[in-house]
Amino acid sequence: MNHIHTNEHKTMWVVIIAASTMVLEILFGISTGSMALLADGIHMGSHVFAIGLSWLAYVIVRKLATNSAYKGNSQKILSLSGYTSGLLLLIFALVIVYEAIQRYIHPSEIQFQEALIVACIGLGINILSAFMLHHSHEESDHSIRAAYIHVLADALTSLTAIIALIAAMLWNILWLDALGAIISSLVIIMWSVSLLKQSGKDLLDMKA
Ligand SMILES: [Zn+2]
Repeated sequence: MNHIHTNEHKTMWVVIIAASTMVLEILFGISTGSMALLADGIHMGSHVFAIGLSWLAYVIVRKLATNSAYKGNSQKILSLSGYTSGLLLLIFALVIVYEAIQRYIHPSEIQFQEALIVACIGLGINILSAFMLHHSHEESDHSIRAAYIHVLADALTSLTAIIALIAAMLWNILWLDALGAIISSLVIIMWSVSLLKQSGKDLLDMKA
C-alpha cells in the first residue's frame, strides 16, 4: 500500500503545477490580450480536472483505509478513476479532431510567434509532469497510469502543434496543422481505449 501514498503525492504536485499554469496563462492572456494564451489557460482547466480525479482517488483510498466500516476492495476506486480518465481522454481527443477540422474549413490568421510560445509552454509543463508521474511496474495502478498517459498525450499534442506551426511558417503549408492534430488524436484514442480495456477488466473482475 506504500506506493498509494507516493502516487497521491505525485498526482497532487502535477495538479498544483497544472493549476498554477492555468492561472498564469489566463492572467497573462487577459493582460496581454493574447487569445492563444487565454484559450490554452482555459484548456488547462480540463487538464486540472482530469489529473485532479486521479489525485482524488488516492485521497479516497487513504481515507477508506482508516474507515473500519469499509470492507470493499479499495483498488477498485483506482480502477474506476482510471476508467473515467480514459473516457475523458477519449473525449478530449475527439474534441481536438473537431477543432482541427474547424480550423481547416475556416482558417483564421495564425499569430505564429504567440502560438509557438504557448505550445512550448505546454510541452515543457507536460514533459515535467511526465517525469513526475513516471512510476515503476510495482508502483503502477490504473489511476497513476491514466494520469501518466494523459500528460504524455498532452505533450504529444503540443509537439505536433510545434512541428506543424514551424512547417506552416516556413513553407506556408496550413493543412499540416490539421493533419498533425488528427495523427496525434489517433494515437491518443488508441491509448485511451487501452486504458478503458485494462481498467474495465479490473472493474469486472476479469483476468488482465
Ligand atoms: Zn490535458
